[in-house]
Amino acid sequence: MSVVLGCIADDFTGATDLAGLLARSGVKVSLRMGLPTEDPETCETAAFEVIALKSRTAPVADAVAETRAALDWLRRAGAKRFFWKYCSTFDSTAEGNIGPVAEALMKDIGTDQTIYCPAFPENGRSIFMGNLFVGELPLSESPMKDHPLTPMRDSNLMRLLAPQVNGQVGLANRLCVAEGADALKARLAELTKQGVAHVVVDAVANEDLYTIAEACRDMPLMTGGSAVAMPLPDLYLADGTLSPDAEKAVTPDLPEGAIILSGSCSKMTRAQVSECLKSVSGYKLDPITLSKEGVQSARDWLASQDPRSSKIIYATTDPEGVRAAQETLGTTKAGELVEAALAQLAVDARDAGTRRFVVAGGETSGAVTKSLNVTRMTIGKEIAPGVPWTFCESGGAVIALTLKSGNFGTETFFADALTSLEESSPQ
Ligand code: ADP
Repeated sequence: MSVVLGCIADDFTGATDLAGLLARSGVKVSLRMGLPTEDPETCETAAFEVIALKSRTAPVADAVAETRAALDWLRRAGAKRFFWKYCSTFDSTAEGNIGPVAEALMKDIGTDQTIYCPAFPENGRSIFMGNLFVGELPLSESPMKDHPLTPMRDSNLMRLLAPQVNGQVGLANRLCVAEGADALKARLAELTKQGVAHVVVDAVANEDLYTIAEACRDMPLMTGGSAVAMPLPDLYLADGTLSPDAEKAVTPDLPEGAIILSGSCSKMTRAQVSECLKSVSGYKLDPITLSKEGVQSARDWLASQDPRSSKIIYATTDPEGVRAAQETLGTTKAGELVEAALAQLAVDARDAGTRRFVVAGGETSGAVTKSLNVTRMTIGKEIAPGVPWTFCESGGAVIALTLKSGNFGTETFFADALTSLEESSPQ
C-alpha cells in the first residue's frame, strides 16, 4: 500500500496521540518507533505512516538530520504529502526545534509554504490572532512558562517562530478561517505572493480544524499538533485519494488469555488495579523483595498460570508503599527493579503463549515495549480517549498490546480493554 500521508512526530507519546486520532476514522495507521530499519520500497506499509522520533529537545542539528532521514524513508515508501507533529503547547526554544525542522523539510520536499496549527480545542489548546491559549490562559501565563527544558515565555506564535526560521512568518486569522476553506485557501495564496513561507493559522473550535484540514489537505507539508490532522483520513476517503476498501484496520484473531502488567502508581491506576483484582488472579511485585530475592518467584507464579486465563502482575501501590521502597532503595533503583521485572515477565508470558498485553505506566510501557522488541504497531480500536489497542510482532508472533499512561481511563479500564478486543476480534 502506498503511503497517502507520511507523518513524523517529535516524541513518542505525541506520535501515539496522532496515530490514535488518525485511526478514529477506521483507516489503517502504522506507528514506527524511531527511524525504521526496514527497506521502505519492499516492506509492508499502511496508508498512514507515523514515525516517532525523540527530537523535541535534541540539539537542532540532530533533530534536523533525524527528521530529514525520516522524511527520506517516507518518500521512498511513496508518500507525497507530509505532516510534522509537535506539541500542542509549541514546545521549543529560540533556536528550535520546530522552525528549523519545518524549514529543512520544506526545502527537501521543494515547497515554499507550510502552516503551523498546534491547536487542540477539545484539550483546551486554542489559537486566536496568532496567540496560543492553554485553557483560558495565554501560553506564557500557563504552567508551560516554567517548563524545565522549553519554558514558554511568549504566547504569540509568530514571535516564537520568527527567530527559529529564515523565511517570512505570517498569519491566517480566525476571521478568515470562519469564512471557510475557500477563504483560507485564498489567504494562503495571497501570503505566498507576499513571500510568506510560514503561516500560523488560528483555530478556536473543532470546526476550525475541519476548515483548515480541508483547505490544506493537498499541501505537500502541514505542521501542527495532532488535532488538525484528525479530519484528513475522511477527506482523503471522500475525494478518492484513499480507497475505501483497502484501508480498514483489521483486528487479528488471537488466542484467549491476557496479561496486565502495571508499574504505574497513579491514583487512577491504583483504582483500576483494585477493581481488576475482584475478578482476575494477581501477583504483587514489591521492589524491596525484588532487590533481595530477584524476580524468580514471580516468574514461577506466572509459569503456574494457564496462558489462556487473564492475570495481573502489578507493582502498583499507594504513596506510602512507594515512599518506603524509595527510602530503602533510592528512587531510580526502585523504579528500575520494577521495570526490569515487568519487562522480563512480559517476555515469559509471550513465550508461554499469551498474546494479549495490557501495560499501565508510561515508563513501564517503554520498558515492556523494548523487552518485547516491538518496533512497529498497527493502531486498532480506541479503548478510552487516547488509548488504542495496537497490534504488533514480537518474537515471531502477532500480539495485541495497549499502553496506558498513568491517569488515563476509568476504573474499569482493564476489563474494558479486554472486552473491546473481544468485540473487535473476527467472529
Ligand atoms: P505513570 O504513567 O503513572 O507515571 P510510569 O510507569 O511512567 O507510570 O512510572 C512509574 C514508575 O514507578 C516506574 O518507574 C515504576 O517502575 C516505578 N514503580 C512502580 N511501582 C513502584 C513501587 N512499588 N515502588 C517504587 N517505585 C515503583
